[in-house]
Amino acid sequence: MALIVQKYGGTSVGSIERIQAVADRVIGYLNAGHRVAVVVSAMSGETNKLVALGRSTSARPSSREMDVLQATGEQVTVALLAMVLADRGYPARSYLAHQVAIHTDSSFGRARIVGIDTERLRADLDAGVVPVVAGFQGVDAEGNVTTLGRGGSDTTGVALAAALRADECEICTDVDGVYTADPRIVEDARRLPRITFEEMLELASLGSKVLHPRSVEFAGKYQVPLRVLSSFEDGPGTLITMENDAMEQPVVSGIAHSKDEAKITMSGVPDVPGVASRILGPVSRAAIEVDMIVQNTGADGTTDFTFTVKRDDYERALELLRPVQAELGARELAGDNRIVKVSVVGVGMRSHAGVASRMFDALAAENINILMISTSEIKISVVVTEKYLELAVRAIHDAFELGKAAAGERV
Ligand code: ADP
Ligand code: ASP
Ligand code: MG
Repeated sequence: MALIVQKYGGTSVGSIERIQAVADRVIGYLNAGHRVAVVVSAMSGETNKLVALGRSTSARPSSREMDVLQATGEQVTVALLAMVLADRGYPARSYLAHQVAIHTDSSFGRARIVGIDTERLRADLDAGVVPVVAGFQGVDAEGNVTTLGRGGSDTTGVALAAALRADECEICTDVDGVYTADPRIVEDARRLPRITFEEMLELASLGSKVLHPRSVEFAGKYQVPLRVLSSFEDGPGTLITMENDAMEQPVVSGIAHSKDEAKITMSGVPDVPGVASRILGPVSRAAIEVDMIVQNTGADGTTDFTFTVKRDDYERALELLRPVQAELGARELAGDNRIVKVSVVGVGMRSHAGVASRMFDALAAENINILMISTSEIKISVVVTEKYLELAVRAIHDAFELGKAAAGERV
């Protein structure tokens, strides 16, 4: 008899029929003798609607109020699932984050979980009641509602599994595991039976939506056995594992992409010490995250400085930099928010050369211009124009022979 935390995503609870199917799945586990705590997301599309509603109400809504608003999506689904379970004769109780309580810091819109009280949930589990907990939300030390960032219900699931010392955390979603690339883009993508925490963290941080980056971080830190699997069909899914030296490591495990990118270039800035900090200072003071940074070699005493930010921060970053451009006497401030980042990830890269050139060759063969490059020990990322996204991902996927066909599987 195991204690399992199951997290169901938006599509999995997207209609009453789906919620009934989720209840069936939970009941299957209960009947097999397991104890189950459930975390759910809002119905698919609901959080987007709530964000749009807030933005159409106020030009600059406060992040505190946006969190109160966005957190309502999950309030609906916890109640519905608890009702369905109870109707089937399986006692269940819904909980919002402050009722549990799931404690976070006060960074609205991207709060971090700092602790979870488990008494009420344990009492339920001991009494044979299924706790159904709202994902994505938390409560700060002042009692404010917070949210964990888009896709954050995964993190609620894993954090809860860690706090309850569950035997496994299942992330139940609309794909049957983690694939070599987003299966919506690459038809030939292959499900990975297992992947290391390190690679999964990199993929998630680089844009693979299948897991929220912080959920992987938590699972690694607290050693929570984590599995991604389908809500709709049975199967082994993908197990996220500790690195195992005995396991043969492919050079590249997967490809991630992110559309949430924009770049800003200040050209003709004086090539003198302190310029990078004068450009990036105001941006970071506004809590805008800067990702890639490129500074050209100076010519005629000036240089060009380019960096990327999240798309939502693009306008604000440009606004902040206009006065800096004037102060520095820079020639031009320009940007592009129609760019994407495509990355290859694999721990095997540590011991293999030539990954970058293979990636760049694949892009060159498709005439795709690389705008920026960044590398680390286990990943290479490139920025390309958005219109090339799908072509780039497929070309790189083929180049590293990641597909089913290349692996000799029947397609
Ligand atoms: P949920 O609502 O269940 O949290 P998400 O939409 O957040 O589901 O995440 C699942 C989606 O992630 C899939 O439908 C798929 O399109 C996308 N995805 C991106 N990269 C991958 C990948 N490498 N493997 C599997 N799915 C991926
Ligand atoms: N409902 C939230 C979102 O859409 C959280 C989640 O789905 O994980 O981002
Ligand atoms: Mg998700």
